[in-house]
Amino acid sequence: MKTGVLVIGAGVAGLAAALAIDDRPVAIASEAPLGRDLASAWAQGGIAAALGRDDSPAQHAADTRAAGAGIADDAAVDVLAAEAPLAIATLVALGVPFARDGDGALALGLEGAHAHRRVAHVADATGAAITRALLDAVRARPNVTLLEGVRAQRLLTGPDGAVRGAVLVAPAGDLVVVTADAVVLATGGFGGLYARTTTPLGSRGAGIAMAGRAGAALADLEFVQFHPTALHVPSDPLPLVSEAVRGEGAVLVDGAGTRIMTGIDPRAELAPRDVVARTVAAAERSGRSVFLDARTAIGARFAERFPGIFAVAMGSGVDPRTAPIPVTPAAHYTIGGVATDLDGHTSLPGLWACGEAAATGLHGANRLASNSLVEGLVFGARAGRAVAASPRRDRARGVGIVPAPVPVRGDDRAVLQQVRVAMSAGLGVLRDAAGMARALALFEAIEADPPSSRVADAAYVAAATARAALARRESRGAHQRADYPYADPAFAHRTLLAGVRPALARTS
Ligand SMILES: Cc1cc2nc3c(=O)[nH]c(=O)nc-3n(C[C@H](O)[C@H](O)[C@H](O)COP(=O)(O)OP(=O)(O)OC[C@H]3O[C@@H](n4cnc5c(N)ncnc54)[C@H](O)[C@@H]3O)c2cc1C
Repeated sequence: MKTGVLVIGAGVAGLAAALAIDDRPVAIASEAPLGRDLASAWAQGGIAAALGRDDSPAQHAADTRAAGAGIADDAAVDVLAAEAPLAIATLVALGVPFARDGDGALALGLEGAHAHRRVAHVADATGAAITRALLDAVRARPNVTLLEGVRAQRLLTGPDGAVRGAVLVAPAGDLVVVTADAVVLATGGFGGLYARTTTPLGSRGAGIAMAGRAGAALADLEFVQFHPTALHVPSDPLPLVSEAVRGEGAVLVDGAGTRIMTGIDPRAELAPRDVVARTVAAAERSGRSVFLDARTAIGARFAERFPGIFAVAMGSGVDPRTAPIPVTPAAHYTIGGVATDLDGHTSLPGLWACGEAAATGLHGANRLASNSLVEGLVFGARAGRAVAASPRRDRARGVGIVPAPVPVRGDDRAVLQQVRVAMSAGLGVLRDAAGMARALALFEAIEADPPSSRVADAAYVAAATARAALARRESRGAHQRADYPYADPAFAHRTLLAGVRPALARTS
C-alpha cells in the first residue's frame, strides 16, 4: 500500500496532525478501536488554556515552567501557552460541548499547581468528547483513510536512513507494508508497561520502540508521572479519580481521618502531582491506607459534577457522597519519548512525532495537570502543518529492508507481566540504584530472548527507561531517588538518548 502520509495513532495528537494535512492522502492506523481504549478518550479533568479574565498565556507558561522543575524547554512552553486558547476555540468550533457558567462563558476548573482556574471540561469525560469531535472531523475529510485495529510494528527506512513507511499488522494477522512520504508517530505513552497504571494497557510505547530501533533520538524517558489518586481496587488498569476532585476541595486523609498533606506543601492537595504522589506513597510505605474525602467539599453534588468517576466508584462499592474513596499512586503519563523540535521533526528525515509519544521538552521533569490533551492538539497540528509543508519525496526509491516479525512463542503475556511488575517495583514513585539495576537486568534478559515482537518492544522501552533513570543521579520532578534525594545542578538538563538499532535478525 502507498500513501502520502502515514499517521500511526488516532488519539488527539494523531487526529490533530491529520486534520492539518489536506493536500495529500493520509492514512491513520490505530491499534485500538477508534475512540476507545486510548488515553485521549479516558481523559477526565479537562484541558488547560489561559481563558479566564484574570489569566494570561504568560501565567500559564510560568506555571508550566515551575512544574517542569528547572528543565522545561522555554520555547515549547511558550508555544503551548500561546496556542492553547486557539486550540480550545477550534474544539468549540468542532462542536465540543464544554461546560459553561451562568454567563455562557466556558466554566473553568482549578487543578494542582495552576495559579488560576483554566481547565475547560465536559463534565468528567472531556477526552471522550474531544476525541469524538476530532474523529467526526477526520471522517469528513476525503483525503483521509482510517485503518482501524491495525498495529504498526516496524518503521521502514531507506538506504539513506530516511523513514519511508511502516510494516503494519492487519486484524487477521497479515503483514501490510505501507510506503509513505512521511510518517507521524502519535502512539501515546508507555504507562501500560507498569503493573499499577491508570493508562490503557495498549499504551506500551510502541512508537518509542519503533523510532529508537530505526535510530531516532529519544529523550527524558526517566520522567514518568504518577497520579496520586488512582482508585485503589483490584482492577487492571486502575480507574482514575481526577485531580479536579481535589480542585473542588476534596482532601487526602489516612484511615484515622488525618489529613496527610498538612505541613507538606502550602498548596496541600493542590501541590504538584509528584509531591502529592510521594506523600501518598510514603503513607502507604508506613502501613497507612490513603483516602480522598469528598464528603464535605462535594457531597451530594458528586454524581452530577463527576458522573463517570461516581459510576466507577459506586461499581466498586464506594459511595463518594458518604464514604472516603480509597486511593493509591499509579503510572499515569510518560513525559519522555521520541525527541522532537517544536514542529514534530524527529532526528530522522521523514519521521515526525507528537503527543505523549513525543518529547518536546514542554513538561521538563514534571507535567502540569491538564497540559497533555492541549499538548497533543497544539503540537499535533504543528507536526501536521510541518508535514504538509515538506517536499513530497521520490517514493520510487523504495525501502531498504522489510523486517520479519518474531513469531509468538509460549505465553508472551506472562513475560509482559514480568516487565510490568518490574517497572512498578524498580521504576516507581521512589527509586534507588539497586532496584533499578535489578529491573534493568530483567529487561535486558527478556530483550535478548523475547517471546514475541510486542514483548521485545516492551523490554526495549523499559530498558531504555531504566538506563536513563540510573544515569540521572539526582531527584528532580517526577524522578525521585532515595539514594540521591536532592536536585543536583549538574543534572539541570534534559536527557537525550541515541536510538539503538539492534541486529535485525533478533528484533524484527
Ligand atoms: C485516565 C487518564 C486521564 C487523563 N486525564 C487527562 C486530563 O484530564 N487532561 C489532560 O490534559 N490529560 C489527561 N490525561 C493524559 C492524556 O489523556 C494523554 O496524555 C493524551 O490523550 C495522549 O494523547 P495521544 O494522542 O498522544 O495518545 P493516545 O490518546 O494514547 O492515543 C494513542 C493512539 O496510538 C495507537 N497506537 C499505539 N500503538 C500503536 C501501534 N503500534 N500501531 C498502531 N496504533 C498504535 C492507539 O491505539 C491510539 O489510537 C489522562 C490520561 C489518562 C490515562
